[in-house]
Amino acid sequence: MRGEGVALPKGKGFAAAVALMWVASAMASFALREGMGAVLLMWFPSAIAVTALFLARKGERAPVLVALALANIAINAWFHLSPLRSAGYALANLSEALVVVAVAKGVVGRRGINMLRLGDMIAMFLGVVAGSLVGAMISHPFRPHQDMVQFVWWVLATMLGTTVGAPILLYLNDRLQKFRRREPGAVAVRKSFFLALAGLFALSWITLDTAQVPVVSLVLMALVFLVTRYGQIGASCGVFVFGLGGTLHSIGHGSPAAYLSHLPPFQAGIVLQVFMLVMMATSLPLAALLMRNDRLALRLKARNARMRENLLLLNMAEEVARIGRWRYDPRNGEQDWSRQMFLINGLDPALGPDPGDIKAMLPDGGDELFGQLAHHSSDKGRYSFEYRVRPPHGDERILKMYATNHFAPDGGLAQMFGVVVDVTEHHQRQEALDKERTRAMRLAAEAQYLAHTDPLTGLANRRRTITQIEKCVRKSVQDGRPMALISFDIDHFKQVNDTRGHQTGDDVLMRIADIARAQARASDLIGRMGGEEFVWLLPGAGPEEARMAAERLRQAIEQESADGGLPQVTASIGYALWREGDEASALLARVDKALYEAKQAGRNTVQKAA
Ligand code: GH3
Ligand code: MG
Ligand code: MG
Repeated sequence: MRGEGVALPKGKGFAAAVALMWVASAMASFALREGMGAVLLMWFPSAIAVTALFLARKGERAPVLVALALANIAINAWFHLSPLRSAGYALANLSEALVVVAVAKGVVGRRGINMLRLGDMIAMFLGVVAGSLVGAMISHPFRPHQDMVQFVWWVLATMLGTTVGAPILLYLNDRLQKFRRREPGAVAVRKSFFLALAGLFALSWITLDTAQVPVVSLVLMALVFLVTRYGQIGASCGVFVFGLGGTLHSIGHGSPAAYLSHLPPFQAGIVLQVFMLVMMATSLPLAALLMRNDRLALRLKARNARMRENLLLLNMAEEVARIGRWRYDPRNGEQDWSRQMFLINGLDPALGPDPGDIKAMLPDGGDELFGQLAHHSSDKGRYSFEYRVRPPHGDERILKMYATNHFAPDGGLAQMFGVVVDVTEHHQRQEALDKERTRAMRLAAEAQYLAHTDPLTGLANRRRTITQIEKCVRKSVQDGRPMALISFDIDHFKQVNDTRGHQTGDDVLMRIADIARAQARASDLIGRMGGEEFVWLLPGAGPEEARMAAERLRQAIEQESADGGLPQVTASIGYALWREGDEASALLARVDKALYEAKQAGRNTVQKAA
């Protein structure tokens, strides 16, 4: 029963406090019994001993036992009992407490007694029965009159003292701990509790004082009220008050109850004790059950509160992240939308939680959304898809849905639920990004093209042409494959410019480029080296092939002029074949020389390089 982190006086301090309480309650009991001649219905000191042993920590048990033994001896000495009787009674009292605790702990186990548990209550009760019997038996030989009434009275007084007193003491200890921990409400006293107890006392007194028709049921009703209202402590205090009433009623050697006055006082006391035990035995379990329900209700309440908090947090998270939440029951068509779901869909959240028929909001009349939902209706895992909505006010939005299905035990679809995020902006950003990327790629390609291309003719420019010739030479060096290079230059081109104008000159250049291109194979390269001078690279071409290609080109240009496609222009052509040891520059030099020779030879001719 001892809670964690409790700071009761340790060891000797605790033991001394227990001894003092024990002495005080024993003195009070003796004062009532011996001093005022009352029939003491309960032996409260036994409750103190049992509770102390329950609460004692490991190191405290021995000091507590010693303190209790000393307290016993002191009281017995006060009443001038013989040392033998004194020792016998002390032994009986200590054994009783030890048996109660041993039996109760044996049944309950190591976790400690919980007065709110029905099982623990029964364990405690069993311990009390066993302990009281053991105590009575041990004390029996030491009593002056060894009659049955005395024996039974000892057993019952001890049992009552413990069953009634221990819960009260445990409760008070609990309050004390709370007070020490400065818990709010630790010392709060409910006036109604004392009023109820006072009422019960009054009813008890009426019952005990009524000789003819005992109205015991009134006491029972009051007790039931106390139990339902205050639980265990109500039961214990109620029975205690009744016992106190009986004891007080018997002061001056009278009968504890007027309606039992036909019996000798002690036998009447036993009848009342049995009645009180029955009261305890019925009300304690009832209290335990009621308290458990109370605790369950409290726990449920706490859990509900936590759930509400979580829901609040969830809503907040949803608002911040702008995530909508929905649930759909396909069996009855019921929908449950979160506030944010309404906002995402451009609807008023006050319409919630069921938005009704949403088809009108969907651009395609719901084909996309409901088609997807139907498509996924047998999915066991999570699925997601995008769909478009058209809010009543505002532009079309793209929503992404993550959903999952819940199936009934019969396998039918019971519920679909999920979350929805507005991905419109994401899409817009993505689109802009894609557009930008395409543009950048186009610009890069253009730059690349411009860097390599002659803008007038679209042919490879000088730089690229030379690079390609170098590449081709390297390839031929590697695998010995033949290659040829043709160089051609328009004859008297200056005259074309001079007589027909620069624009015509440009047109001629473009036309020549086209003619050359038409002659070339896909693997060939035509390049403009500058002005009206071009080269034609023929990878893999041998001498005959090269010669024929050059001749074909010469004729094609000549023919074009004859057909009237060009002003009268011809070209002089030189060609060179790659030889072992030739670098690109050497090849170019040789082909240049051949071209020069072609010019020298009267133009419009083909000349092979040496
Ligand atoms: P040759 O038969 O000896 O080759 O005489 P040619 O007049 O063709 O040679 P020359 O080198 O004296 O003249 C080349 C001319 O080409 C000079 C220039 O006006 C013209 N030319 C160079 N590049 C361009 C161009 O891009 N457009 C035009 N229209 N003319 C150009
Ligand atoms: Mg020329
Ligand atoms: Mg020239």
